Amino acid sequence: MKQIISSHLIDYSDDERFCFALHCQECGSEWKSTPIRFSKAGVPPLSEAKRVITETLYQREHAQAKTRAINEAVLHFNSCPLCGKLVCNYCFVICDDLDMCRTCAVRLQETGESVMDSLPDQICIN
Ligand SMILES: [Zn+2]
Ligand SMILES: [Zn+2]
Repeated sequence: MKQIISSHLIDYSDDERFCFALHCQECGSEWKSTPIRFSKAGVPPLSEAKRVITETLYQREHAQAKTRAINEAVLHFNSCPLCGKLVCNYCFVICDDLDMCRTCAVRLQETGESVMDSLPDQICIN
């Protein structure tokens, strides 16, 4: 699951902060991870040596932020076991035997509750 998310993750990071996004392959809604500020944001390196250190630090923090974004995304996305689509909670249906995306549920005439319906506080933004 985390590998699937990782391969679909869109990198919105810039020099100052790390942020990642995912799109639901069903409804197209975008989810963004909580942005994490780069520890050296706004601090220009004073020398070539410092620049190398800053760059390495950036890469390390970027990788850590990506891991966190993936852990966060797991709570918002599901992978359909039938078609393999990565879909948001709103588009994922909990059925009796197998949970699946809305399209597959309609195709197989399965009825179930959306993951979203069991989380009434959250709203899926299209
Ligand atoms: Zn969706
Ligand atoms: Zn599906």
